[in-house]
Amino acid sequence: MPDQDRKKTAPIIATVVHVESIGTSFRRITLRSDSFRSISESCVGGHLKLLFRKSGSLDYAELARADSDWRSQCVARTYTMRSVRAEQREIDIEFALHPLTSGPGAAWARGAVTGDEILLTRPSERKLNRLNAQWYLIVCDSCSLPAACAAIHSLPSEARGVVIINSDDEHDASRVASMREGFKAHHIRRDLSLPPSVVAARHIGGLRSLDIPYGDVECFVVGESRVVKEVKRYVHHGLQIDTDGMYFSAYWKQDHTQDEHKQAKRAERDRPEPSSEFSDQNLVIPGA
Ligand SMILES: Cc1cc2nc3c(=O)[nH]c(=O)nc-3n(C[C@H](O)[C@H](O)[C@H](O)COP(=O)(O)OP(=O)(O)OC[C@H]3O[C@@H](n4cnc5c(N)ncnc54)[C@H](O)[C@@H]3O)c2cc1C
Repeated sequence: MPDQDRKKTAPIIATVVHVESIGTSFRRITLRSDSFRSISESCVGGHLKLLFRKSGSLDYAELARADSDWRSQCVARTYTMRSVRAEQREIDIEFALHPLTSGPGAAWARGAVTGDEILLTRPSERKLNRLNAQWYLIVCDSCSLPAACAAIHSLPSEARGVVIINSDDEHDASRVASMREGFKAHHIRRDLSLPPSVVAARHIGGLRSLDIPYGDVECFVVGESRVVKEVKRYVHHGLQIDTDGMYFSAYWKQDHTQDEHKQAKRAERDRPEPSSEFSDQNLVIPGA
């Protein structure tokens, strides 16, 4: 790899300068680093990786060197940059804390205190590119709620739409709805004892109850694999919206580890689309 590219990908060491609870299930952690001076507002909603040292690996200063082999020495988890204050050299990340996510990411966020150091990669550009649609459909769960909030934050004040949130805390809905006057929020209580098909059916039920306008609709859908797949099918075949180029991201799969999910995604990419017409035959409609 050329030296210049190595420099670009060398991780950053940041220090925790503030930790704050948001509602009952989130922790907002503010990180500071000189490198954040050059991060632009267009990266709010972009992704970065937090890098947790494996036991026996080099220390952070050595891992942050341009030529270090940090990829093999660290466990990585992806997060959304929720906000940036370049002048103060600060960024915020919001961590969802719920019983199932007890891996390295949630464990670090739970225990983080002011003065702790962490290693991270540079954020990508934001994921929602079209900021002038007439109407937005945003679907998220607890871990993708920060991405949904960052997306809404990037929209003009007159933007309109709906957010469907699948999380533990119904107050998440009012928090999101208060960000933009033209946004309504629809909460679906998270219940991990349900199979993903039922959770997906609840989302489709929520979508059916909404008054989605015809015309210029943009989607931003991030969540569990089955939910994202069924929502996309409904939007495409049921609502006849061309989803090409819109952001649909299945970032986790129930009962799968991250590695298993990555493998399943790769296999899925190689398989052809199963059906050209939306049908809820395979969905279990709760209470039906
Ligand atoms: C692009 C992207 C952006 C992300 N942004 C954020 C963010 O801003 N804030 C944040 O908190 N997380 C975010 N995540 C999720 C994050 O990367 C981790 O997956 C999460 O913090 C759990 O990490 P962990 O190491 O604690 O547990 P892991 O060891 O990664 O996972 C433990 C188990 O929890 C399951 N799991 C993952 N997500 C959920 C969920 N929503 N509900 C129930 N179970 C789940 C996984 O299937 C896994 O089996 C993002 C992920 C992606 C891909």
